[in-house]
Amino acid sequence: MTGMRKAVVITAVVLLVAGIGVLGLYQLTNSRTYQLFGELVHRVETQEKVVALTLDDGPTDLAPEVLRGLAELRAPATFYLNGNDLAARPELGKQIRAAGHELGNHSYSHQRMALVGPEFVRREVEDTDRELRAAGQDGEITFRPPFGKKLWTLPSYLAEHDRVTVMWDVEPDSGVDHDAATIVRNTLEQTRPGSIILMHVMYPGRARSRAAIPGIVTGLREQGYRFVTVSELLKLRK
Ligand SMILES: [Zn+2]
Repeated sequence: MTGMRKAVVITAVVLLVAGIGVLGLYQLTNSRTYQLFGELVHRVETQEKVVALTLDDGPTDLAPEVLRGLAELRAPATFYLNGNDLAARPELGKQIRAAGHELGNHSYSHQRMALVGPEFVRREVEDTDRELRAAGQDGEITFRPPFGKKLWTLPSYLAEHDRVTVMWDVEPDSGVDHDAATIVRNTLEQTRPGSIILMHVMYPGRARSRAAIPGIVTGLREQGYRFVTVSELLKLRK
């Protein structure tokens, strides 16, 4: 091989390896089931027909409507809330907690947390915890990364502070804009004992998700499922 051709081949190999590395890191930031440090739970291995409904973002003006729906169903949920929304509407956090639901930490400002520094991570986690405590959340506070994104600093901070990262294994309203009946059907098909369902109900554009909740709760109960909060579900892990 001439020196020139050798250089071209070496450059191609280096670019290929770098590309695979970047792709691998990107997939790692999005993984629902794995992170580099600390404990990540996306479902709990159990024979018991228990399931946790988790509702991300907010609180917003739609929180009271969501609470009324859950109260009619007598179903507990876990709300992963953002610190800045809680700080703006502290009474909504208190209402959610007073209705018997669990509050989780979904960061302060809902930014992607794959490539962020340790000080940013500390503030996002701790400032949100402070709002959650003020809303009445006692006991363990689990963390759910915004957009599910994490890489190095976030998992290492959570691991250092004995915090559990909670992801999900059923996400019926992510991606495609399904109607309520499809959201219900997909959820009933995909839920297994120990599943964690992720839904978004806090935005005006999410009427279909809000409308799907009664069908999900009654449908899963007909299959023998019992709804629990995330911390109740975590007690069942081995
Ligand atoms: Zn979110």
